[in-house]
Amino acid sequence: MASLKMEGPFRLNAETIDEKVNRISPGNYVIGRRNESGTFLFKRIGRANSDLNSKLKSWVSKTTKPLFKFRYSSSAREAFAVECAIYHDFAKDERVEHPKRPDSTNWRCPRCGFYK
Ligand SMILES: [Zn+2]
Repeated sequence: MASLKMEGPFRLNAETIDEKVNRISPGNYVIGRRNESGTFLFKRIGRANSDLNSKLKSWVSKTTKPLFKFRYSSSAREAFAVECAIYHDFAKDERVEHPKRPDSTNWRCPRCGFYK
């Protein structure tokens, strides 16, 4: 299983995304904020099947949460598996929906077999 280790958190704005996510690559992200004691809390998890940089930028105007973390993945399939792992390890109780596979694939969640 790929490492879940992510870089960040960083400010969710176009300049910072270009500075930190400077490869065109599939990958994973979480978006959130810090609480009063400084702990990072995330509200969204997601993945990019091909271009993490542009996927993150698409969130800039759609969320009030100011921070993101990310990791690159070697393939869209790895990004899907990592998103599933993040979901099962950290997000299942946060009213986050189970990740969905890309429409053109027959992938199943490596943890629970979910597919949709
Ligand atoms: Zn699952």
